[in-house]
Amino acid sequence: MTSDLAVAARVQRMVERAGAVPPLSSASRDTLVRLLVHGPASRADLARQLRLSAASLTRIGRSLEDGGMVVDAEAAVPQRMGRPSQAMDVNVDAVHLIGIKLLAGEMDLVRTDMRSTVLAHRTVPLPSHAVADAVQCIADAVLAEVAVDPSVATVGISLAGPVDPHSEIVTHSPFLGWQNVPLPRLVSEKIGLPVVIENDVRALTAAEHWFGAAAGATDFALVTIGAGVGCGVVIGDRLVDGRSGAAGQVGHLPVTDSGPLCERGHRGCVRSYLASSLMVAQGATALGHPDLTYQGLIGLAADGDPVAGRILRDAGYALGTVVGLVASIAGPSKVIISGEGVPMVPLVMDVVEQRAREVEHWAAPRVPIEVAEFGFLEWARGAAVVALQQLLESSIGLA
Ligand SMILES: [Zn+2]
Repeated sequence: MTSDLAVAARVQRMVERAGAVPPLSSASRDTLVRLLVHGPASRADLARQLRLSAASLTRIGRSLEDGGMVVDAEAAVPQRMGRPSQAMDVNVDAVHLIGIKLLAGEMDLVRTDMRSTVLAHRTVPLPSHAVADAVQCIADAVLAEVAVDPSVATVGISLAGPVDPHSEIVTHSPFLGWQNVPLPRLVSEKIGLPVVIENDVRALTAAEHWFGAAAGATDFALVTIGAGVGCGVVIGDRLVDGRSGAAGQVGHLPVTDSGPLCERGHRGCVRSYLASSLMVAQGATALGHPDLTYQGLIGLAADGDPVAGRILRDAGYALGTVVGLVASIAGPSKVIISGEGVPMVPLVMDVVEQRAREVEHWAAPRVPIEVAEFGFLEWARGAAVVALQQLLESSIGLA
């Protein structure tokens, strides 16, 4: 029986460690990730899944427990043979994360636990697009959250456009007009916590990879539609960043040579058909309806309006082209469609699937296409998952 003194010592250690991850070996990191993604498991099952000896797993379990990272799960899990075994689970409150999605006029912030459950969220208007103003705005919002939750360990920031997570520089932000901004360093200096950045679509892909529609998948792709069109790819269980963080920039791929124009003057590129603002502009002109919104356009198509229906079907053709291309190049087990534009997908899924089939190799098995559940906090949640992944990576090797 555990003595009160031992419990008190354990609680004291957890309090001291709040907001920090203890040094990890790569095997203990893998154990933690396995529990995070797949839920509670017995030591015997974990040892088998991770190909570790029972003795190694016992040692890892003890060290994670001492570090406050794992706890006994509430329910015992049945075993293949013998009595049910007490399962281990992640102590999801060992550290908390903050995720921020930067938009043109505002930012969405979430505070989450280790399994990406949102504990708090806020939307804050950006005073201007000046770097110093945005940095101060982010710092103020983060410090307000840290004041109520000292277990926040790391902050992740995501935004559209090429973002190089390795050099920690926002290479180019089309919405904010930034070039080569060392955003993590600038924010970190003000808040005293590590800050990581990632492209918004790749951050969303990271969230789907660990806690969403692709939890546990080693090879899949995510295509997002809405204000922008993006693509995130996981190959061999790793998110692909690419050179200078430019992987997945599919927005200006050519689809036809006779379509509408995008902002950069490309005729018939993916964006020209699929970006919400350009779809609305087409609809507003064709329908003589200057106040048309994206939701309004989708609603008209759903009600059978032929002009709105044609704009959506053309968009579906562009989406199918992207899905087929990414399926051909990356060979994913599935392609997930997400983003603010998901309400239009059921209306044009036949077009998307047919076009994807035309683009994929004729002999390849058809790639399954799934539509994700999407809410506006998903972007910020993705940034928090990137923060968690970076935190665990940076703790390896310190053991
Ligand atoms: Zn273009």
